[in-house]
Formats: sequence, C-alpha cells, structure tokens
Amino acid sequence: SLTPSSDYLSRLNSEQRRAIETTEGPLLILAGAGTGKTRVLTTRFAHILLTGKAYPSQILAVTFTNKAAKEMKERVGAILGEPVEGLWLGTFHAICARMLRRHAEYVQLTSGFNILDTDDQLRLLKQVMEPFQIDTKRWPPNQLLGIIQRWKDRGLTPDRVTPVEDTDFANGHALAIYRLYQERLQTLNACDFGDLMLHVVEILRTKPDVLAQYHRIFRYILVDEYQDTNTIQYLWLRLLAKRHDGISNIACVGDDDQSIYSWRGAEIENILRFEKDFPGAKVVRLEENYRSTDQILAAAAGLISHNEGRLGKTLRSGRKNAHGEKVQIIGVHDSDEEARVVGGAIERLQKSGHPLSEIAILMRAGFQTRPFEERLLMLGVPYRVVGGLRFYERAEIRDCLAYMRVLSQPSDDLAFERIINVPKRGIGAVALQKLHKEAQTLPCSLVDAVNIQLSTDSLKGKSKKALSHLMANFTQAKATLDTEGHVVASEQLLEESGYLQMWRDDRSVEAPGRLENIRELMRAIGDFATLEGFLEHVALVMDIDRTETDEKVNLMTLHGAKGLEFDTVFLPGWEEGVFPSQRSLDEGGNRALEEERRLAYVGLTRARQRAVILHAASRRIYANWQSSIPSRFIDEIPLEYIDMRGESVEKRRQASFSPSMFASGTFTSTRSNRSQPAYKRITDIKETTAHIPLGATVFHQKFGEGLVISSDGDRLEVNFNNVGIKRILANFVEIKS
Ligand code: ATP
Ligand code: MG
Repeated sequence: SLTPSSDYLSRLNSEQRRAIETTEGPLLILAGAGTGKTRVLTTRFAHILLTGKAYPSQILAVTFTNKAAKEMKERVGAILGEPVEGLWLGTFHAICARMLRRHAEYVQLTSGFNILDTDDQLRLLKQVMEPFQIDTKRWPPNQLLGIIQRWKDRGLTPDRVTPVEDTDFANGHALAIYRLYQERLQTLNACDFGDLMLHVVEILRTKPDVLAQYHRIFRYILVDEYQDTNTIQYLWLRLLAKRHDGISNIACVGDDDQSIYSWRGAEIENILRFEKDFPGAKVVRLEENYRSTDQILAAAAGLISHNEGRLGKTLRSGRKNAHGEKVQIIGVHDSDEEARVVGGAIERLQKSGHPLSEIAILMRAGFQTRPFEERLLMLGVPYRVVGGLRFYERAEIRDCLAYMRVLSQPSDDLAFERIINVPKRGIGAVALQKLHKEAQTLPCSLVDAVNIQLSTDSLKGKSKKALSHLMANFTQAKATLDTEGHVVASEQLLEESGYLQMWRDDRSVEAPGRLENIRELMRAIGDFATLEGFLEHVALVMDIDRTETDEKVNLMTLHGAKGLEFDTVFLPGWEEGVFPSQRSLDEGGNRALEEERRLAYVGLTRARQRAVILHAASRRIYANWQSSIPSRFIDEIPLEYIDMRGESVEKRRQASFSPSMFASGTFTSTRSNRSQPAYKRITDIKETTAHIPLGATVFHQKFGEGLVISSDGDRLEVNFNNVGIKRILANFVEIKS
C-alpha cells in the first residue's frame, strides 16, 4: 500500500510545479545550477506514478552517472513511501546494455555477449591491425581506438562512415580496420562500450517492430544533464521519443552553462535542436536557486557572464536569509602551503561540528589530490577520492614506487616482479619460471637470481638482453643515487628503463594524466632527504587510513562533481596553466577556454554555504620552480562578492618573488604576463630540451644554473656555477632564455 508523502508538490515553487504537472508533450527545462532541475525530474517521476499515468516500468529515466541513478531511485522511493523495482532508470550505457541483451540476435550476437574493457579492446584492435603492416609507432593503435570511439559517438557504423569522415590515419586504412574490428567482435560474441549504444540505435533504426514495442513500453521519458548528451545518445532519445501517434512525452533538463564534456563528443546543439525536433515543445525556465548563498550565486553569475554565445538565464536566490559569506580567495606560496591552509580550515570546520561529508575539495586534474591526501592523512581527517583511486594506489604510481623500492632494496621481490616486464621487455614465461626456480632453490632474491643467471649465461635471447639492460639501469641509478641524490636517480631510472616512454607513446586519453601523476610523485620525493625516507613515508601514509566511516571529506575532479552539492567547497589551483588548463590555453581561441570557464562555474555552484578559492604563487614543475599567476577566472568574479585572504591578488600580481624565499635558492620567475602561460608541460620541457645546444645556459632544480659543455643524445654534461661539472639527463633541465 502506498503511503506517499502527500505534500511532495507543496514545497516547490510554481515554475517547478508547472514542470512537474506538464506531464504530456515534449518539455525542455532549461535552468541554471541549483534551481532544482534534478529534484523536478525526480518529483515528476513520482508524480506520474502517483497520479496513475503510468506504471514504474513505463518510465524511462536517464541519468549521467550510476550514482545519480541510485539517488534518483532512492528519492522516488522516499516520495512513494516504498521502494520501487523494475525501473528503466540508469545511465545511457546501462539502459542500452539491457536493451541489447533483449535483441542481440538482430546484430548477430547472443544475449550472453561480453562487454570488453579498454585493455581487451586494444588487444583486439592490435590483432586486427597486424595484417595491414602498419607502422604502429607512427599510427598508435590507441589513437585509432579513439577515432573509432568518436565515430561510434556520432552513430557512424562502418557503413555510415563517408569518405569525408574518414581520416588519413594509417594511410587511409582506418575505415577498413574499423570494419574488420566490428566483424571480429561479432565472431567473439562481444561488443565494446560504444557498441552498446551504436547497436541499439542501429536496431531501432532498422527494425520498426522493435521500435514500436519500445514506443508502447515507454510512456514517459526523463533525461537529466541533457547538455552533455552526444550525438548517438541524442539519436537514441529521438527514436524512442518520436512516436508514430505524434505523442512525445519527453522531458529533458539541462543547463548550457554546465556543458563540460565536449571533449567526449557532447553536443550543446542538442539543446538548441530540441524545439525543432519536437514541435510544440514547452520550455520551462527555473530561476530560483535553492542551493547557494547570494554571494556565491552572484560570484558564479559574474564569472560565467564572460562566456559568449550563452542561451541566457536569470538566476536569483530562492533561499531565505541566505546572504552568506563572500567567496574567499586565498593566495599561498606553493602547493604545500595550499594543502596546509585547506587542511587547517577543514580541522577548524570539523571542530565546530561541520560534517566532513559536507566538505569537498574539487580540482581540475587528478594529480592535484596528492598534497591534500597527505595533509589530511597527517591530520587524521578521513577522506575519500570520489570517482578515482587515492594517489598512491594509482597503477602508474605503484609502478614507479616499485622501481624505487628495487633501487633502494634490491631484494624486494614483490616490487621487482611488478616491474620486470613493465614496460614490455619481451621477458618470456620460461625465463621467468627459471628465475623463480633459481631464487627458490638457492634461496636468494629474484634480482640475485637474475644476476647469477646472467653471469652463468643461462638466460637466452631477448630475455637475456632485456634483463641485462634492466640490471644496468639499476646499477647506473644506484651510482647516481650516491653522487646526485635520490630525485635525479629516480628520474633517471624511470627514463632509462623506458617506463616514462611507455606512457609517452600511449595515446589513450588517460596517458597524459598518468604522466602528470608521475611528475607529481617526483615533486613529492623532492620533499624528503632520502629515498628510504620517502618510501617509509608512503608506507606509513598508506597504512593510516583504515577508518571505516561515511564521515569523510570528498576529493574529486570538477568533472566528477557535476550535479552534486556540499556545504563547503574548496577550489585549489586557480592559476593560469592549471585552471584554465595549459591545454586550453595552447589551443587558442575561445572554445576550449569557455569550456574551462563552465567548469569553474560548475565548481563554484557546488557550494551551499562557503566557497574558498586558492591560488599558489609558484608550483614546482618537475625539478623547477615556476612562478604562476592567478587564474583569469579570479579576476572575472566581481570584486564585491569576494574576500581576499592572505596576500591580496593585486599585491601578489605586482610583487616579484624573491628567490630567498626558497631554501634552495633556485626559484626562477619565468613569467610575467598572461599571454605567456605560467605552466610548462612535460612535453614542452621535453621538446625544448630535445635540442639543447652546446653553450646554452640551463637550469636544474638542485644544481642551479650551468653551461652545457657536451651533449650525447639526451645526456648532457653541464658545468654548474656552484657545483662544477655534472652529467645529467636533458629532460630535467630547462633552457634559460
Ligand atoms: P545542478 O545544475 O547543479 O544539477 P539542479 O538544478 O539539478 O542543480 P537540484 O540538485 O535538483 O538542482 O537542487 C538543488 C538543491 O535545492 C537541492 O538541495 C534541492 O533539494 C533544493 N531544492 C530544489 N527545489 C527546492 C525548493 N522548491 N525548495 C527548497 N529546496 C529546493
Ligand atoms: Mg542536477
């Protein structure tokens, strides 16, 4: 028996009620952050059920994340007074997977088909590419996978890819490979993530009876975060919503100012097309924000007003007595101070009774979590990394740590096993078995076993070559460790062993982030006097957090925070080159920059009570300090809504930093105005140093300034002003112009 909370409509404003009660016909709810779009969608779901217009199984509801789907299900259950089952409620992919299992035979699959993960996909693609004899250095399989994924995002099966869409990838073989790849998937009774939607759309397009069947099932369609749908998702929605009887009960909610996934193929045009595709569509605008204080709202509105080509919306506070605090802007020296300031603030909030789960630290990129994680662990404040792994648990970080553990302690077999074939060195299973056997019978460590077998010449061919190379890498790094310290030695080891190159050659979307993480790891090592000191710190840090509690501070990326809300939000790293990202600045023009600004808007509007923006005066990039300047987004927030803490932004901008501020005395101020990016990326550094001419003045974090006196590939001999001649890797110096 239903015991619905009867007042579910009374607490809503009139526009929201209209959006809920207009159940028939196409409806677009276009509204800013925190205006209750998601709440309207949830209530609409319940309203349709409570008014008997449909059964739960007759409503299709699409959310952007699984988490959002779960929340919506719970909220609908709360309004109805009992849990609901049998819902078509989930992400695009989850719903399509369910549909595809019902009709798999139409695309020559059986209902038990496998869904491949990225690794499987890549392995398969490489197999398919083999007969084409493509130079995979020049045309990396990962890149082709990206091209195929984008085709799929746009609904292009191999037959639908026109010559115009074809790329010059692999000298025009891309389409042929795509076709074969799809055929192979079919024989394996498998599909990849993109296929879930592609196949279903293909079925709905070509099988009128199937489409008609869904038209009968789905009487109402609800879509959240509509601004971030891509073409295939749009096609799918349109097919399902445009019924032959002319009835389209589709309600989409979205905010053009929060469109932040264009890099994944999202098309903001889908909002603009809605009224054209569904003639007679009603558009409801919600203008009252119930989430944030006036100050936060005004700050966010001021910021986003710098974007051109917006659909334009009014946003006013719907909260009562919610003038609130101004947005705080805090300038700090560096990322350590940034983490200290945030950590301290969180401790004070915690003491004053602020729930930790109502606090979020939102960053532009995943690597930025590291200093905050360490600070929170030190303070004993529980935290979770939402939508990702904690820093020291990430695969590339574990790999690097394994290299360092072997360097520090060659008998660490677990560490050695992790990296013996990473990157792939062609060490065969037989060779590995022999090593294990040797180590067990003697007994000795695996590294010892390798050395014994190398000296007795019992290893053969590729394995022998690879292992002697790897051993040489460790010997060399050990020597460097004694002469030049653990930072240089670690960098050298990762470089010479080919580990860094492995990620540079990797064209997957995750690879740049992994390189960023490794760079961040190098920064962390530099904070310790010895390698052992650092490794012990990591072991301790990873051991502390065993707290089983929901009361945790949330660390996540801005992208991952979409749709969520917290009482207090910290927004670190608002500097040119970090946020907006260097990539968006490099791209030039407004397109990428405006997406960054929307991301900033998403960040600010997550906060209910309090938003704190931080920016550091300098960041360490690999081994170098670089001065950075506050993000333009800070300037774009109207002054009356901000409260400058620490040193004021203006003062900071005028001041030039004195090198004496840093113990090492190696601070360089390389940027003075905004047209020059404050940040250099790993690839920039590599490019500039690839041709370091003799006689060039270079800069190294530890050794300071020096003159290049010889170079052999990427190895340089540099005469440093303070410490004399040293041999170093070109990657770790920067040319001084
Ligand atoms: P976003 O664009 O960030 O996804 P949204 O438009 O989906 O935001 P919601 O998350 O649905 O907004 O709502 C924001 C907050 O305001 C929620 O805490 C919600 O419960 C609350 N809220 C919405 N409408 C009302 C209302 N009429 N009265 C009181 N609170 C409301
Ligand atoms: Mg929402």
